[in-house]
Amino acid sequence: MNYKTHINGGILASLYITSQIHNVELLHTAIFIGGSMLGSLLPDIDHRSSYIGNKAKPVSRVINKLAGHRKLFHSPLLYLILYFIADIFILNKFGISFNKGLFLGIMSHLLLDSFTIGGLPWFYPISKKRFSIGKIKTNSQLEFTFCGILIFINILILLDLLKITSIFTFTQG
Ligand SMILES: [Zn+2]
Repeated sequence: MNYKTHINGGILASLYITSQIHNVELLHTAIFIGGSMLGSLLPDIDHRSSYIGNKAKPVSRVINKLAGHRKLFHSPLLYLILYFIADIFILNKFGISFNKGLFLGIMSHLLLDSFTIGGLPWFYPISKKRFSIGKIKTNSQLEFTFCGILIFINILILLDLLKITSIFTFTQG
């Protein structure tokens, strides 16, 4: 998946959760969504020609050499452990919002990668087996369509949040 699909996946996950929660400060919401957008791109740091890998070439090169692509840096277990460790140490409430958003964005990335033919090693490093639940090729017409759908849903949720529509918040008073 390319970075546009991933970032829209991250926005979708955080926007949706935002739309379901009441009375959260705007700054917290912004930090949460920002964290999720960053997280949605982060795992591909293990690939030099990815969007984020390109932005941080030296880091990406080292990570790719040491860990390979779609291995440790695409391991849900790794991020789960890191999330809980960070959760213990981060005491600042904005830091907590950021950590939650970051983790959510990373998970959205891993889920979206599972829709590709290559699949994702969901239990890495315990098992190297990759699981694929879709047949999407990166930069294919199918991915562009998929990305378009994500953008469309994001706009709908945004309209809900602005209280113009109530498609995803219909159960709320
Ligand atoms: Zn990836």
